[in-house]
Amino acid sequence: MMRDQQDEHIIIEYNGSIIRVTKQGGLYKCPYCNALFYTPKDLLHHIVAHAKGLLNAQREPASRWH
Ligand SMILES: [Zn+2]
Repeated sequence: MMRDQQDEHIIIEYNGSIIRVTKQGGLYKCPYCNALFYTPKDLLHHIVAHAKGLLNAQREPASRWH
C-alpha cells in the first residue's frame, strides 16, 4: 500500500468545541463522513451542518427538509 499521502491531525476550535480532524493529502477530512474540503472554513461549515443534524445520513437525499 502506497503511503505518499501524509495524514496529519489538526485541531479546530469552534464555539468552544474542540474538533480533531485529519488532514489528508492537503485536504481537510470530515471526521463524521470523510468528506474532503480544501479549507478549514469549508470543513467547519460542513461540521456545523452535522452538529445541527442536517447531515445524519450520508446517502439519503435532503428531500425531507422541506
Ligand atoms: Zn461530514
